[in-house]
Amino acid sequence: MIGKVISGKEFSELVRAKVSKHVDQLKNEHGIIPGLAVVLVGEDPASKVYVRNKGEQTKAAGMKSIEHKLDESTSEKELLELIESLNEDTSIHGILCQLPLPSHINEDRVINSIAPDKDVDGFHISNVGLLGTGQKSMVPCTPLGCLMMLKDHYGDLTGLNAVVVGRSNIVGKPMANLLLRESCTVTIAHSRTKDIQEICKRADILVAAVGRPEMIDENWISSGATVIDVGINRIPHPDKAGKSKLVGDVDYESAVKVAGAITPVPGGVGPMTIACLLANTVTACCRANKLPEPDGLGV
Ligand code: NDP
Repeated sequence: MIGKVISGKEFSELVRAKVSKHVDQLKNEHGIIPGLAVVLVGEDPASKVYVRNKGEQTKAAGMKSIEHKLDESTSEKELLELIESLNEDTSIHGILCQLPLPSHINEDRVINSIAPDKDVDGFHISNVGLLGTGQKSMVPCTPLGCLMMLKDHYGDLTGLNAVVVGRSNIVGKPMANLLLRESCTVTIAHSRTKDIQEICKRADILVAAVGRPEMIDENWISSGATVIDVGINRIPHPDKAGKSKLVGDVDYESAVKVAGAITPVPGGVGPMTIACLLANTVTACCRANKLPEPDGLGV
């Protein structure tokens, strides 16, 4: 059996097209332009690339994009003041503070200073609580993208056994909450889980969010299961000396032989994450203006 490839790249194009269409509608019918502000502190190379991509895609969707690039030495107080001004700016509907922040800044304090309605990353404690209690919230972009692909693949997820490997606040826990909301039977596995391979093998849906290159192979996957690989790991290229390549937490070549469906890396969850950031910004804009929320941009 060779699993179906779930292309996040293709799916994200559909999501972005829906975002652009809704942005046009907001402009033409209401004179409103959704605005996203991204704040970057310091010089982390991966963060710089993410922020650049987010800005480009925000503009390409017809939205207003603001980038604040702050020096590594920026104090927490200065950052909090900037966020406060963005909270009050009515032309900004989404605020994202790129993580990780330099070690002298308290990430929790910064995240929780973002107005919950503008917290398009869905990391604010209010949004975490709303999601955990099954209420309307801003949903973190990566798990949102994973769930969109799963719902597209299955339609109804009721009763499926889902195993999420990883319990981080940004991926594992919100992913598990979303799957529970869809009436899956959810297990969260982590670095202290016993018999993890056997647990994963019982999954209909296996979500890998670990940060360990190619840890999960065919021996962890039951025949026909759907595998969502969130991992992004850069490893030395096996064939090209001095070069690197991106791999997921799943050994794709091995897993694809038993999985019923699988997301590749690159081209799987990654492109969906940015598309969902744009979707969340449009949703936040509609909520701020008491307009109906767009179809197909949430879950
Ligand atoms: P974290 O490091 O915050 O969490 C990793 C989780 O994996 C932890 O819960 C940890 O368990 C668990 N874990 C680590 N080693 C093992 C192991 N050997 N067996 C079982 N569980 C293990 O990572 P993130 O959640 O932030 O990210 C996970 C991956 O997803 C990374 O590769 C990251 O780059 C990628 N990512 C991709 C995104 C995308 O857009 N595609 C977005 C965000 C992240 P414990 O809690 O016990 O330590």
